[in-house]
Amino acid sequence: MEISHETFEADPFKRLRKEPLGKSNSAVWEVARESDGKVYARKEFSETGHRKKEWFGNIKKEISNMAKAKHPHIVKFCGSHYIESSQIIGLLLLPVAEMNLAELFDRLDRKQYNDVEQLEVRRKMCRWPPCLFYAMEYLHRTGLRHKDIKPSNILIKDNRVYLADFGISYNFRNDNTSKTDGPIGAITERYIAPETYDEQPRGRASDVWALGCTVLEICTVASGENSIGDLNNHLKQARYGRKTPFCRSAYFVFDWIFLLLSCPGQDDLCTRPIQKMLQLAFLMLDPNPKTRISARQLVDLLNPLGSNPFDSVGRLACDECKRTTLVPSHDATPHSVFKEEHNGGTYIPLKDGLSSEKENLWEEVKRRWLKSHIPWNIRT
Ligand SMILES: [Zn+2]
Repeated sequence: MEISHETFEADPFKRLRKEPLGKSNSAVWEVARESDGKVYARKEFSETGHRKKEWFGNIKKEISNMAKAKHPHIVKFCGSHYIESSQIIGLLLLPVAEMNLAELFDRLDRKQYNDVEQLEVRRKMCRWPPCLFYAMEYLHRTGLRHKDIKPSNILIKDNRVYLADFGISYNFRNDNTSKTDGPIGAITERYIAPETYDEQPRGRASDVWALGCTVLEICTVASGENSIGDLNNHLKQARYGRKTPFCRSAYFVFDWIFLLLSCPGQDDLCTRPIQKMLQLAFLMLDPNPKTRISARQLVDLLNPLGSNPFDSVGRLACDECKRTTLVPSHDATPHSVFKEEHNGGTYIPLKDGLSSEKENLWEEVKRRWLKSHIPWNIRT
């Protein structure tokens, strides 16, 4: 179905709240169409300095492309319009979310739920990573990239997660900044992949990295024993400044994964999937984009048919995701080259090694890791 791009003199929608939706994104409002009462989330671009009407003309095709992405965990584009009186460009989106994942982390951190509610929220949270893997695999399979995966771009509605702002981050920036920021200016530093930080082309592997950071944050919070603040304090040991991007504290990210893996946890229903998802996060946080696990490989690992060590994570996905059928992946070239290590042994993280020869060391650890934790034999 074609989506509509209309121009109105006056706004045919009315805002339903005094505040925008969510604290972290001031440009999204809950609106209702006056004519039929239909409710949407509307992302508004209203900054001055743009020749917005012309810009609107230029981006229509891109919006139409984004509207083609149809997945149960991807926010749906329903149309766009330009309002002459207010010079606002509006993108109509569904669903209207209750909150985003960053806000949920924050609520848990502020103890806004009682003990019973907290446990329930954490259990629900454990079900989201597999659905997000399916959503990312869908995007990549259809030739798209998200480019800015992070908790505040993951919306929550009726206990379901939705990837939002896909494709918007780079092409739909609100302002004209870019020269000073370089190519990474538009995306969020904390979740930037190492290759993007080094201003190498940002490919699909960068989405995997960013989702890996997000999954690590989910595991941290869902464990019930740690907060994002604890994770941040750990990463700050890398002394890379206040923001501490994951890619600039590789050793401490790694160390954090080990720490969480050794946490007994208080609730079996959370602990078991978290242990598995931490192993997936480890593979997603491979500093080398060439050997980092791909979205397709992740989804293959979740397949409940056959016996693979991650089918228990796959079973946590929603029914729609579990019905996803993919053609056998012989033709999907794996990003990662996983080799079996013949002389195993216990790994002790080497702090100095990782900062200098981090990629080689990561690869080495990964081999040992795969041997000891993942009886998986994708080889080339
Ligand atoms: Zn799902």
